Amino acid sequence: MKLFNSLTRKIEDFKPYNDNKVMMYTCGPTVYHYAHIGNLRTYIFEDVLEKGLSYLGFDVVRAMNITDVGHLTSDSDTGEDKMEKGAKREGKSVYEIADFYTKAFLDDMASLNIKIPDIIEKASDNIDIYIKMIQKLVDDGYAYFSNGNVYFDISKANNYYQLSGKNPDDLKIGVRDTVDLDLSKKNPADFVLWFTLSKFENQVMKWDSPWGVGYPGWHIECSGISYKIFGEHLDIHCGGVDNIFPHHTNEIAQSEAFLGHKWCNFWCHGAHLNDESGKMSKSNGEFLTISLLKEIGYSPLDYRFFCLNSHYRNSLIFSYESLDIARNALKKLKNKVISLSEEITSLDDSAVKSYSARFKEAFENDINTSLMLTVLYDLLKDSTINDYTKRVIIQDFDSVLSLDLFHCDDEIDENFHKLILEKIQLRQSARENKDYDLADQIRNELLDKGIKLIDSKDGTTYEKV
Ligand SMILES: [Zn+2]
Repeated sequence: MKLFNSLTRKIEDFKPYNDNKVMMYTCGPTVYHYAHIGNLRTYIFEDVLEKGLSYLGFDVVRAMNITDVGHLTSDSDTGEDKMEKGAKREGKSVYEIADFYTKAFLDDMASLNIKIPDIIEKASDNIDIYIKMIQKLVDDGYAYFSNGNVYFDISKANNYYQLSGKNPDDLKIGVRDTVDLDLSKKNPADFVLWFTLSKFENQVMKWDSPWGVGYPGWHIECSGISYKIFGEHLDIHCGGVDNIFPHHTNEIAQSEAFLGHKWCNFWCHGAHLNDESGKMSKSNGEFLTISLLKEIGYSPLDYRFFCLNSHYRNSLIFSYESLDIARNALKKLKNKVISLSEEITSLDDSAVKSYSARFKEAFENDINTSLMLTVLYDLLKDSTINDYTKRVIIQDFDSVLSLDLFHCDDEIDENFHKLILEKIQLRQSARENKDYDLADQIRNELLDKGIKLIDSKDGTTYEKV
């Protein structure tokens, strides 16, 4: 398996720490609002990575956090608390906001056919672990208490800038620009591990700690939860490119200082989704969500298919025109798959082997999803392979692609179903009365509506055409 590693900026051979078992950690959402479809693009890439690794035979365990505390509007410990902001906006408590948007996020994942991670941990459920880690970092001289907060001293970290590739001098300017000219810090990029000097007087979520009542910084939660679930090593850590700095950079600094050795071998990041202006903008004050796409008639899987057509490390330009193209292409693809004969015939083993090998090879080439789709199209076109074998192979591919390739999209609603049954009954009576003209008329009427009647010795059934 070849995978691009953000840490080395190279495509490398992926090997897990323990034989066949893959310990995978993916940063979860901050549950103060709906997820943007751009954020969800990252979760789609992570889902394909997880399922593809399982397809290759790895035993993958995936953990994800839910950020319900400590994340400020700037990722660098400045600005408003996101959860408080959400609570204020909606006149609810932070707990209600967290519950509501966690559920909304999991619903979005499910509608995109993203497998729910094996382990999901709320940030606020793991305070004891963060305190234990922070205490050790303070004891070992990596962290210091200053003016009410505990900070991580980045000058003590081993190779702090490796992941981001940033130049420390550029960074100083950047930090000065966003000014929280916090004179309590030793270095401008030092980050908060534990806040006790809350800028938010009505902060609801707070806990006792050796440094006073307060709450954890955002970055420590992923290090803490990963340590709790997987222990001292991690195979793959994923997120969006915007997580590289400061979030993942800080995770590495504190985890490796705490553990005393290298922590995670592979860092994989999904690229942005932009609109034609270069950045996703809000339309009518609404930002693009899965619910919004559903409201205007798209299936969440149209969006999944749209994402799979491009490489996860390339920025993707969103427009409704491109989404329409993806929707039509997916519809055509499904029609081809659905029209394969359902008759069970002999399985062509060599075709199964060769197509699975090509599909695996595309995945192993740094998750080349568009090439994986090409293999599927080639299979459908291949006239040397029987339909039954094609169905078996496609079923297998869809365990990774998760496009519901065998499901007909347009559900027949209940009333229409009843009407069809009535028409079948009527036609049956007409035939019994030898009124074949009427019987044919009913059959043609239904055909015009896209319903084909199928007569057999057990009676009449129907299918969509
Ligand atoms: Zn994280």
